[in-house]
Amino acid sequence: MKRLKNRVAIVTGCAGGIGQSFCVGMAKEGAKVVATDLLSTDETVEKVKSAGGDILALQVDVTSEDSTLKMARQVMNHFGRIDILVNNAGIYPVSPFQDIRFENWKKVTSVNLDGVFLCTKAVYPHMMAQNYGRIVNISSVSVFLGSPSLTPYVTTKAGIIGFTRALASEAGEYGITVNAIAPGLTATKTMLEGSLGAILDKTIKMQALKRRLEPDDLLGALLFLVTDGGDFVTGQTLAVDGGLTRH
Ligand code: NAD
Repeated sequence: MKRLKNRVAIVTGCAGGIGQSFCVGMAKEGAKVVATDLLSTDETVEKVKSAGGDILALQVDVTSEDSTLKMARQVMNHFGRIDILVNNAGIYPVSPFQDIRFENWKKVTSVNLDGVFLCTKAVYPHMMAQNYGRIVNISSVSVFLGSPSLTPYVTTKAGIIGFTRALASEAGEYGITVNAIAPGLTATKTMLEGSLGAILDKTIKMQALKRRLEPDDLLGALLFLVTDGGDFVTGQTLAVDGGLTRH
């Protein structure tokens, strides 16, 4: 029995990495998936199709209200409903605080926080009208660690937890749950090829579970939150980090 049959799920930032894994995982559970990114999502489309899934690919800039409203309109025209939004698009530039310029700060807050606001605003009226919605925001365990050289990033990911709690408190009235997943250091191409790749071995040693965290390791948490088993869970932040943090 496919747990997401007839559900329509939008994932932001899924040209590769964690978002791609989410698209494939939800498609395998029967969801109609909308893959969105600034970049080409061809690889994700290919993987979803070879898993037998139904997918619509849209180029979306999460920092643009025109773009996010257009996204919601296109999904409604194509699939007729929006059940799930996964706010996954994000950037994580690494830089000591003294080297961060105001424009760098604004870029990170624009993608990681404004993007979450704008995508959620765009789909929210449709979820309200259905009296059903599942919103999952991708935060980070760096919030609990207070990781160095990531101040704008950690600030936005902490903001996402606040956004999740606040919106959950009023969205429940419309049958909408809002939760967050806080991944640990996850082996995506962006992470491995950036400067965070250098701390992977040290991070694994600090985890309770001594292996690297793969994007597919986050799927169980996502599917729990967007399928029936998670129906009464809202306002929560679920860390998936191999026991890097315990709280
Ligand atoms: P990724 O770079 O593979 O994915 C992020 C995607 O967001 C990219 O495809 C990028 O093109 C897209 N994007 C950037 N700006 C955008 C915009 N304005 N509009 C639309 N799309 C945009 O990275 P990832 O490692 O898969 O990370 C995915 C999410 O998980 C991010 O929010 C990240 O902060 C979070 N996260 C990652 C890790 C990790 O270690 N990889 C850990 C914790 C949290």
